[in-house]
Amino acid sequence: MNIIELSKSSRAGCRFCKLKIQKDEPRLGEEYEFSMGGSVRTGMRWFHLKCAIDNFPDLVIHADVSDKITKDVLEQLEEVKKKATQSAFAIQGISELGEEEKTVNVKGHILKAMKPKLDIDESGSENQSRTIYVEDNDNRRKIVLWNEHTKLKLEKTDKIVILKGLSKLGSDEKIMVYANKGSKVLINPKDEDLEKSIPNIEIFTSQEWTKPRGKFSIFELAKSSRATCNVCKEKIIKAELKIIKPGWGENEDTKQKFPSSASYHVSCIIKDENGGEVLQEALTRLTPEQIDSNRNIFSDLQVQLKDEVQLSEILSQLL
Ligand SMILES: [Zn+2]
Ligand SMILES: [Zn+2]
Repeated sequence: MNIIELSKSSRAGCRFCKLKIQKDEPRLGEEYEFSMGGSVRTGMRWFHLKCAIDNFPDLVIHADVSDKITKDVLEQLEEVKKKATQSAFAIQGISELGEEEKTVNVKGHILKAMKPKLDIDESGSENQSRTIYVEDNDNRRKIVLWNEHTKLKLEKTDKIVILKGLSKLGSDEKIMVYANKGSKVLINPKDEDLEKSIPNIEIFTSQEWTKPRGKFSIFELAKSSRATCNVCKEKIIKAELKIIKPGWGENEDTKQKFPSSASYHVSCIIKDENGGEVLQEALTRLTPEQIDSNRNIFSDLQVQLKDEVQLSEILSQLL
């Protein structure tokens, strides 16, 4: 089991930044197995708590916490947990966005709204656009409302929420958001309206099997036709949606462990040992893009999983 505690000495170095961890500084210990003289032993790898939070939040949220840990650190851990369990569908503060060209749900408060203007693109088609500057967490970000959204009534300090917006890299190198066809723009929405509008799911990480740090079961398009399904032993065809379950392989001679993963047809995974947990881990990490481009597969999966209460609940939220 991983542990968060105050460092007992100044001897250990942080595995991430390589600097020493000072006595009484909060640290995270990651338990790991190694072989020595033919037998398997466990050891601890140490990280500054800060380094672990920034780079391996998942180790942090599943660690035992020593009762010597101070209240402000505990609050910080709560924050980490909240963030790490937010699915791709959660409504984020617009300043938290990191990637461009993603379907996102964001919020902010209006600082300034420009007048709508007419935009004619290369093909000659006319579009109305309206630039809004919003504030989030002391950061200023830009939103561009397109066409029908330009007519919305909005005022300074209003809360604005965009569902199914598109993140874009602005000319100032900061991420901005487009609200276009298919997006929903809400001004001063009620909490209960928001809850109804987005899937209410938490990212799940199974503790049933050990896997390399930062690796989780995910859905992915097969990059080649090389992988074989771990259940039916048939090939998984290139560009087919598959499930990857990360874990550890073992060298038969040296007993040395190495990161290794198993692949599955989406329809086969439930028959695997831990299949339900693998699926839950992967389902809660789905992105809006993955759902939109594989709707048929997920509808079939929903039929297949109709007796699995928890999994079908997640799927029906997503679809
Ligand atoms: Zn460090
Ligand atoms: Zn299969």
